[in-house]
Amino acid sequence: MAGMLYLVPTPIGNLRDISIRCRETLEQADFIAAEDTRVTLKLLNHLGIKKSLVSYYEHNKASKGNMILDRILAGETCALVSDAGSPAISDPGEDLVKQCAEAGVTVCAIPGPCAVITALSISGQSTGRFCFEGFLSTAKKSRREHLESLIGETRTMVFYEAPHKLLSTLEDMAAAFGSDRSISLCRELTKLHEEVVRTTLGEAIEKYTAQPPKGEFVLVLAGAPERPIETATADDAAAHVRALMDSGISRKDAIKQTAKELDLPKNVVYDAALQMDKE
Ligand code: SAM
Repeated sequence: MAGMLYLVPTPIGNLRDISIRCRETLEQADFIAAEDTRVTLKLLNHLGIKKSLVSYYEHNKASKGNMILDRILAGETCALVSDAGSPAISDPGEDLVKQCAEAGVTVCAIPGPCAVITALSISGQSTGRFCFEGFLSTAKKSRREHLESLIGETRTMVFYEAPHKLLSTLEDMAAAFGSDRSISLCRELTKLHEEVVRTTLGEAIEKYTAQPPKGEFVLVLAGAPERPIETATADDAAAHVRALMDSGISRKDAIKQTAKELDLPKNVVYDAALQMDKE
């Protein structure tokens, strides 16, 4: 019978955040696949667990992934850990999960520490709808392109960032979203110097220019304000669609053209056209 893959989250700072279930899974697994075996060994020593470790990280994941999968298919249970937080979230693991899923191996994710969720919940930003954007590229051009693709994003956006890149990222964000946009900078979460700075992009730039940033950061950026769809806009859209249809354009094309010409979302024009039919 095939074994299983467990995804075991580990503390992002405070070692007491390891759960009973994570501890038991690490104890009971046949082997542990770790992003950095030295980091994991420290955790295992702290927990008093002795277990065989194999390394699984970005640059060996293709060969090690096959080896780990073979061992699981032969009946062993593997616990995958990263250096901190949830494996597979901006950390090695995504490919191993895909490989196991494709081979019909059961994958079990144990809930636990994860920087994106910890930051979002403490940020004070809207949490109902959010998107996780991971790390921005270190290359200026692709970082800017990434940010520009988010200009119309109305959901709260969450980014991981390293301290030495923080200032240039904040500057690029201010260029894309405006310096008044609200942001929560969540630093050293669960650690002694945990800090959440709830401010604007402009003020964050001033703060970290005066005082260079230290530690690990998650940036939680407010989304763009939802554009209120005023009745007048809906009426304009309906009138525009009607005029185009009267000139012989099909309803579908009239909706498409109106959305483009009045710079409105297609669903708004579609709803306005529906309303027009009812009246
Ligand atoms: N898989 C991990 C998780 O689920 O939390 C994330 C790993 S990613 C390689 C590391 C990034 O997570 C850091 O650069 C930082 O942006 C964020 N991070 C991790 N621990 C943090 C902490 N204690 N406080 C703030 N950010 C943290």
